[in-house]
Amino acid sequence: MNTLVEKVVQTLREVLPGKKESYALHEPNFSGNEKQYVLNCVETGWVSSVGQYVNRIEQELERITGIEHAVAVVNGTAALHTCLILGGVQPGDEVLMPALTFVATANAVAYCQATPHFIDVEETSLGIDVDKLSRYLEEITVRRHGECFNKISGKRMKAVIAMHTFGHPVDLDRLVPLCKHYGLILIEDAAESLGSLYKGRHTGGDGLFGVLSFNGNKIVTTGGGGAILTRDQELAQRAKHITTTAKLPHRWEFYHDQIAFNYRMPNINAALGCAQLEQLPQFISHKRNLAESYAQAFGNIDGIRFFREPDYAKSNYWLNALILNDPSLQIRDKILEETNDLGIMTRPIWKLMSDLEMYRHCPKMDLSCAEQLVKRIINIPSSARLGECL
Ligand SMILES: *Cc1c(COP(=O)(O)O)cnc(C)c1O
Repeated sequence: MNTLVEKVVQTLREVLPGKKESYALHEPNFSGNEKQYVLNCVETGWVSSVGQYVNRIEQELERITGIEHAVAVVNGTAALHTCLILGGVQPGDEVLMPALTFVATANAVAYCQATPHFIDVEETSLGIDVDKLSRYLEEITVRRHGECFNKISGKRMKAVIAMHTFGHPVDLDRLVPLCKHYGLILIEDAAESLGSLYKGRHTGGDGLFGVLSFNGNKIVTTGGGGAILTRDQELAQRAKHITTTAKLPHRWEFYHDQIAFNYRMPNINAALGCAQLEQLPQFISHKRNLAESYAQAFGNIDGIRFFREPDYAKSNYWLNALILNDPSLQIRDKILEETNDLGIMTRPIWKLMSDLEMYRHCPKMDLSCAEQLVKRIINIPSSARLGECL
């Protein structure tokens, strides 16, 4: 056991460039036009709800993703919330999602007074296990008037949220037809996968909606921010409308035609994001370099492997991960302890949503793969800058 711990620590030290006091899990990189654009907001006074950078970041996202419409919002969680509402999720509905995700995915469903329904993941993508989901839906659902109901709870099942874990796309070509077959809308939580391609297509465009996050730890940041992606023009317009207080355009009248949200991205955040997006290709290339170095270095160590993108994907490698063979926790915890002591920041993956107090009673399928993975995954330093000089 100790030799494995030693090997892992040694290998990380070999791969990580320079001799730094500490290596963060994920650091933002502001070496482009960030200062200039943000300063421009301050100098012109356009820091808040009006300004050119919001339009510009939306256009940039449309260009980068190839998805026709992008709506910038205040964060990824708000984007998810908005998509669920526009997707028709109603109080009492169930929404299927992987148990292995960041808490925002489940929280957004709870904001709609709907219930998360947890499904298992598989080890090639760390995302939804489509075959297992297919068998499960066959077993527990019944169709009524073209809608899908959970036979056990009696509740309507309205949507599936697929999450592209650490930037690695789930198998969309198998998931999309399954959702269609059951009349479930698909929302892609692409918060971690900006720049990641599935068979050449950008993630976030296969579902009714895709969601991005620009939180400080994501591949590009606006400080805090997010975006809604969709190919449907009318849905995009409605998304813009309900994230901007549903105000009807007028030179001076305040007329709002429904209860809506103040989820608009401020211009100063969009300015930061525009500068960041200019560097996205470099960030991805540096992150892929770093991942390649890790993959080589960990290639010959028994008992642990570096997680690599599925064959069908070109991933942004947002957050790098090691996967231990052994789910017993002793080795994992020892590695976490030793690396963090050395200033090499490492973390276990999130707890399963079904293990959090507020979601403990939600419906779930057998989660054996997710339960194992939670004990075996270790995230390791992933900042783009680390791959710059490799
Ligand atoms: C970061 C993240 C979010 C939420 O994004 P915020 O911008 O922090 O609200 C949602 N889902 C996943 C999987 C994430 O990693």
